[in-house]
Amino acid sequence: AKSTGRGKAVKYEISMDDERQQRVLLEERLRHALQHSEFEIYYQPLFSTMDRRLRGFEALLRLRDDDGYLVPPDVFIPVAEEMGLITAVGEWVLNEATAFAQGWPGDLTVAVNLSAIQFETGRLVETVRNALEASDLTPSRLELEITESLLIKDPANVLGQLLELRSLGARIALDDFGTGYSSLSYLWKFPFDKLKIDRSFMLELEDADGKPREILKTIVALCRTLNLSVTAEGVETNEQLAALRELQCDQSQGFLLGRPMPASQIPSFMMSISSE
Ligand code: C2E
Ligand code: CA
Ligand code: CA
Ligand code: CA
Repeated sequence: AKSTGRGKAVKYEISMDDERQQRVLLEERLRHALQHSEFEIYYQPLFSTMDRRLRGFEALLRLRDDDGYLVPPDVFIPVAEEMGLITAVGEWVLNEATAFAQGWPGDLTVAVNLSAIQFETGRLVETVRNALEASDLTPSRLELEITESLLIKDPANVLGQLLELRSLGARIALDDFGTGYSSLSYLWKFPFDKLKIDRSFMLELEDADGKPREILKTIVALCRTLNLSVTAEGVETNEQLAALRELQCDQSQGFLLGRPMPASQIPSFMMSISSE
């Protein structure tokens, strides 16, 4: 910090320097991780709500700092986006996750999150096509998750790419529904196969007569009409799961049913639930 005086001003400058330094360290960590394949993917299970059968997993990116602690994706993904690294990282996730899922039994799906930046490169469709070809995964087992913010910026361009992705056979899911600028018209203007209800809804679902439950009921009904499947995210309690059963929500995901886990744990996880 500059020696401009004492007290608050100096403290402020020091903390700004700290922040800048943290940022520089994180940027270095990201570059290093990309070059040395040090990112990891955790997989969180999704179940059918009614009979609690395993339906697939969502791929969630993980990065360790130099001390071995996990850095939350909400922290490092925005930085990777600003640095333009997310394109290469996103490509790695697609390749890795499809190759892994190809070895899963039956028709289990793998969901991969896409960043808005990946839609700006003009290479996304080719990247997905390559991942599908290289892995030999049945395309309909790949779900691509996008968020609404993407649809606002350049809807025509995004629509075109979503249609191409779908013509490859991949499925498209609208993530975090119910937050941000949700517009119901997105549901029929874009070619979605699935809607993922944001976990903020779950927190209020336990109140049996509450408005959130009524709203959810309406969303599920709307999805039925539009032929969209509905997944609830962030299911943490048995009460929430019971409410989702009553609403006939198709799939559920959350800590109650299974936390994100490293790839190495998937085989024993599958064993443990098939013998339940
Ligand atoms: P998301 O796509 O909404 O992923 C779900 C997040 O909710 C995950 O956080 C997951 O660990 C967490 N979660 C799941 N069940 C529960 C629950 O029952 N309770 C609570 N409190 N949380 C639950 P995570 O792994 O920290 O990921 C955060 C976000 O980072 C993701 O939100 C997604 O937007 C982004 N992200 C993760 N991996 C990727 C990736 O490969 N590419 C891109 N572009 N974004 C990614
Ligand atoms: Ca997601
Ligand atoms: Ca989500
Ligand atoms: Ca999210």
